[in-house]
Amino acid sequence: MKEIVPQPPIVQNEQRAIQELFQKHVVPSYGRFDLAFKRGIGSHLWDVNGKRYLDFGGGIAVCALGHAHPEITEALVEQSKQLVHISNLYYHEPQGRLAEKLAGLIGPGKIFFCNSGAEANEGLYKLARKFGHDEGRFEIITAQNSFHGRTLGGIAATGQDKVKKGFEPIVTGFKHVPYGDLDAMRAAITPATVAILVEGIQGEGGITAATPEYLLELRRLCDEKKLLLLMDSVQCGHFRTGRFQSYQRILERVPGGETFLPDGISMAKSLGGGFPIGAFWVRGPHADLLGPGTHGTTYGGTPLGCAVALRILQVIEREGLADNARHTGEFLKSELLKLATKYPHVIKSVRGIGLMIGIELAGKEQIPAFAANDKTSALQFVNRLHDAGVLTIPSGTQVVRLLPALNLRPEEAAEGIHVIKSVIANLV
Ligand SMILES: *Cc1c(COP(=O)(O)O)cnc(C)c1O
Repeated sequence: MKEIVPQPPIVQNEQRAIQELFQKHVVPSYGRFDLAFKRGIGSHLWDVNGKRYLDFGGGIAVCALGHAHPEITEALVEQSKQLVHISNLYYHEPQGRLAEKLAGLIGPGKIFFCNSGAEANEGLYKLARKFGHDEGRFEIITAQNSFHGRTLGGIAATGQDKVKKGFEPIVTGFKHVPYGDLDAMRAAITPATVAILVEGIQGEGGITAATPEYLLELRRLCDEKKLLLLMDSVQCGHFRTGRFQSYQRILERVPGGETFLPDGISMAKSLGGGFPIGAFWVRGPHADLLGPGTHGTTYGGTPLGCAVALRILQVIEREGLADNARHTGEFLKSELLKLATKYPHVIKSVRGIGLMIGIELAGKEQIPAFAANDKTSALQFVNRLHDAGVLTIPSGTQVVRLLPALNLRPEEAAEGIHVIKSVIANLV
């Protein structure tokens, strides 16, 4: 008689195996969720166990066209058959075309290409230092609760102590004032000040938008004191608010708003839709400050990265995704506001513009279902949404962010709201 030898299980625990690889071999600098993904299409993702999720996080505002978009695939394939990389010692068409396109969407000026948001901001710090150098000015004022990236310059610029802790001495030349507070900004300017750097909508700081008055007065102040007005649009830019730049949306129909221009703008995240590319725009009068040999990066603006970014812009225009961000964002926000009215002890406020929305929750002590667990209310809410099949992004202890793809469909928005509603209903 044949002996029955036990077979290994056909479906191994793939998620556990992946997590073990990370535990053994990947620097543990991120607090990760217990989820491992295998594939995606549009605004849906599947984990390694085959469970389907609606992606309201968009890879933290990166996946502008969702997952596995056929035109991104096509741009990658077609361009990679021609040229992937040649270095910045030479010219090529995609970088020139993308620069033309981006400047066309902002205003007269030029573009420098890099690889990430932190690096785009680094370029702006160097631009500001060069601008003030001959007068001995170097100080950049940024906002409390801002986020500008994880390089040494980025953590110095960021107005949050948690990113600096353990990495002292901090790069000098940055100071922080409360966001939206013009008196504090005026008081912080010294003869050494050279620039002001703010986000149009603070992202990591919990989704706080600038007011039109704030932006217009910062512009006036910078003109008066000969400072550069720099904007970090890494998260809030690229049509997320319904306009290319969040300041364009915030200043829509505001007297004096249509002529507003900062002096420098950093971009990344949605620019490459998941392919790493960053950039900064610098306004005309200062566009040649960084001359040959002053700044550079090997991978900046490769033919491949630029071809992908150009294709994403084409799809956004052709499919009217700016309007989709505006309208689908309005739908999400109005539905969330209804939930805030119905469950005021769970949702304290709903903030944001277009597809950049923050749900501010009550503290965990105020939500009985959360009180016994030590995790913040934002983390507990995000975890419950994971169980229910929706991905969102925590921001601080009490805010949960929605940063979905710009091509999120109305029925997907409705699906997400339905899930969020049922998760909240189960908390009370
Ligand atoms: C994500 C982000 C950055 C940093 O971008 P990286 O690509 O992670 O370096 C900078 N500023 C803002 C506003 C961001 O949201």
